[in-house]
Amino acid sequence: MDDAVRRFRSRRADRMGLIREDNKDAVTRYRERRNLRLKKRFDEENHGNTHIPFGLCEREGIEVQPDWAPKDAWDALKGKGYDPDAVYKELEETGKTPKSPSSPTKTAMTKESAEHVIGEYRNTVKSQTKLEKDREKAKNALRNVQHDKRFAEQQLEYLRQKAQEILDKYGSEENMPEEKTISYLTGMMSVHDEYLNYKELADKEEKALSDYEKKIAKCEDKFKDLDKRYEESRTEEAKKKNEEAKERYYEALKVARPTYDDCQDKQEVVDRLKANKYFKNNEDVAVDIIGFEEAKALAKNLDGFFEKVPQMIGRVGAVSVYGLPNDVYGQSDWAGVQLASKYFRDLRKFKMEYDDSERIGFHPKGTTWESVVFHEYTHQIDNVMSKKGWSFSKAVTDEAIETLKKSGSKLFDGVEESAKKSKYKWMTQEELIKDAERMRVKTAVSEYAFKWKGEEWEDDSEFLAEAYSEYLTSKSPREVATVVGKIVDRYIKDLEGKK
Ligand SMILES: [Zn+2]
Repeated sequence: MDDAVRRFRSRRADRMGLIREDNKDAVTRYRERRNLRLKKRFDEENHGNTHIPFGLCEREGIEVQPDWAPKDAWDALKGKGYDPDAVYKELEETGKTPKSPSSPTKTAMTKESAEHVIGEYRNTVKSQTKLEKDREKAKNALRNVQHDKRFAEQQLEYLRQKAQEILDKYGSEENMPEEKTISYLTGMMSVHDEYLNYKELADKEEKALSDYEKKIAKCEDKFKDLDKRYEESRTEEAKKKNEEAKERYYEALKVARPTYDDCQDKQEVVDRLKANKYFKNNEDVAVDIIGFEEAKALAKNLDGFFEKVPQMIGRVGAVSVYGLPNDVYGQSDWAGVQLASKYFRDLRKFKMEYDDSERIGFHPKGTTWESVVFHEYTHQIDNVMSKKGWSFSKAVTDEAIETLKKSGSKLFDGVEESAKKSKYKWMTQEELIKDAERMRVKTAVSEYAFKWKGEEWEDDSEFLAEAYSEYLTSKSPREVATVVGKIVDRYIKDLEGKK
């Protein structure tokens, strides 16, 4: 016999030996404990549905034996015409527990358990926020009472000094004159009265000081207690647990709130968006400044973008809504996309305004306010794709011009003539033609695509953003947008989706 087998058998024998002991009570207690443990675990795995299958046994008057596992209970129930699969199917249809006994124990959350996770997590966050606030309050209270104490100390010193000054001047209390003099404290009073007054006030202040000691001790206790709890909530271990709880919460949101319209409040919309893990700095999503409806619309808009460009999931920066300079819809930097609260707070107004600027050609034909978000996220694509010394937007623009020329686009009709008319006389004819071509292609998309920056030509990033967002959002993207869109798609096609 193999050594390992022998060791296994001997261990097994040890346990059998325990049960064979002529101590029925111990055996029964052991079985009961084991059964309780199993039942508890099974209930947990089945999201607290205690009525299956032990509950069903109870209902059917089947006596549950101390050493029964759930399987034994099901076996007993079969005699009464129960089929586990049918039971679970029925529960699933009534929305209670879609868990089948044949499925692995760690399956996706049920709607019911997801609701539970959501509630629990939000309560945890609430109590954590409350703890932070309470701690801050206790800290301020302590600071205030310490400040009051210092003030009382100064006051006491002043009063004593005043009394001492009078005493020094006259040598003793008896020598102090009783005729009225002008005192700054109470108007007319005798020097002696003034002296007594200072002393009395000093005594009062001293009493107040000892009260402050007590107050400070009380405030200190309160702060220390809250601070300790606060610090405990911020240990590495607690942080890890929090992180795990948050992940579970995100999973639960996906189950219980399949769409943004299922969300019950703005916080859920924000968290549901975070649950999608679109951004490399996902926790920086900050759209709290806008309303519930606006948040939903923006989140749907972002879904639309990542649905079309899933390769960018997890690569681009987070979205946030801030107060930005007037007339700026949004901006993009390495941290992500910032949208202007002025516009995104009131989408009804923003839609009208955007439609106006689209009509006059400031923004690409056929685009809407939603294209602004696509525009900004195209800047993010530009960031992701550009390398040191190699600009993605420039490469795409160059290739788009070449492609359009090869296809015989009418865009370049008479381009040599207009190059001749250029005021940039210091440029060669070839350079002037190249510039004119670039201008034609850009202005064909929108005025904004052809953006000036002082006397310098703006780079190609606005053109790329305008053209690609038209390609993705317009019902019928025009010639240039389509050419640009296909080039971009080809570039990002091979990026591994981080989904
Ligand atoms: Zn831009």
